[in-house]
Amino acid sequence: MVRSFAALLACSLLVTSAGAQELDATARLMRDLTEAPGPSAFEESVREIVVAEYRSLGAGIAFDGLGSVVATLPGNTSGPRVMVTAHMDEVGLMVQYVTDDGFIRVKNLGGLLDQAYPDQRWTILGANGPVPAISGLPTIHVTPPEQRSRVWSLNEIFLDVGAASRAEVEALGVRPGDGIAPWSPFLVLPNGRYAAKAWDDRVGLAVMIAAARRIRAENLRLPAQILWVATTQEEIGLRGAQTSVDLARPDLGISIEAGVAADFPGIGPTQAQERLGRGPGIFLLDSSMIPNRKLRDFFFSVAREEGISLQADVLTGYGEDGSEIQLYDTGRPSVNMTVPTRYLHSHTGIIQRSDFDHAVELLIQILTRLDAETVEELASFEPRIPR
Ligand SMILES: [Zn+2]
Repeated sequence: MVRSFAALLACSLLVTSAGAQELDATARLMRDLTEAPGPSAFEESVREIVVAEYRSLGAGIAFDGLGSVVATLPGNTSGPRVMVTAHMDEVGLMVQYVTDDGFIRVKNLGGLLDQAYPDQRWTILGANGPVPAISGLPTIHVTPPEQRSRVWSLNEIFLDVGAASRAEVEALGVRPGDGIAPWSPFLVLPNGRYAAKAWDDRVGLAVMIAAARRIRAENLRLPAQILWVATTQEEIGLRGAQTSVDLARPDLGISIEAGVAADFPGIGPTQAQERLGRGPGIFLLDSSMIPNRKLRDFFFSVAREEGISLQADVLTGYGEDGSEIQLYDTGRPSVNMTVPTRYLHSHTGIIQRSDFDHAVELLIQILTRLDAETVEELASFEPRIPR
């Protein structure tokens, strides 16, 4: 028994280290972005990566008053202003208070199912640096049979950092108001699938950065000025998008998000329609907006021209930053493009690399076509009067 477990462990370590050696620049970017702890309003470690990536491409960087990043690559200084955006924050928790015996009570930052809270590892972003924490779950040995399938509410959840008193927790630098992120390392799975936390919306940031890298590497000349915007506090009400649009002043917006893959047991097309491996997605309806229909159709026609499979998703219970671009000033064409993702808003989600690569390709193809005339036509509601 012991021997086979040791063999299994050795085997899994080999797989992990071999996988790590095989990561290309894009997968390394995904690993770094997803492993960075950044719940809403605590996006520092993600912002650091985003700023470093865009600066390495020679971009000018500006910040809005909530910490969103607006990057502009050199060269594109004329034409319509196109905002390409993804959010830096992830769902997480906040320290509410510390008990006398050193346990930490929490509130949520963003929407998680109650099932997602107990029996997990977390990172508390304390004053002295990250502090690992465990959300404890009482053992079955002391749980009465009628309680064993009960879901724990957030008010019952506590974090354990190994401390024996409040003073010990304080000495670790943990204070009320500190942000808490899920702890969940990046993993390579079969079929080009990657497991990680915070795909929502680090996968969107990775699409943005991968596209910008390619635009620079291939010296692509675009007919529009692209504002690459990484927003804050999306998960608690699209707050960084509200402020960053005033800085970006877009004529048109493309939000890039983690889509809702509904291709596993217990979920189906009534909830959402995306599936892993069938290409990027586009939301035709979500709780925050109906996209501009001409821009939506433009995405489908460019995808068709380029032989990229584009999935449609009609769903509710999902708001996203694209809606803030849509409502900017007197209103702007806006759309939400996605990389299908399983198990959003939990400790581990799964994406497929081919969907990601096609999302980057589609974004670049769209951007190369957004000249002044096209953007004006997409934004126009002038009735077509037959002559
Ligand atoms: Zn999101």
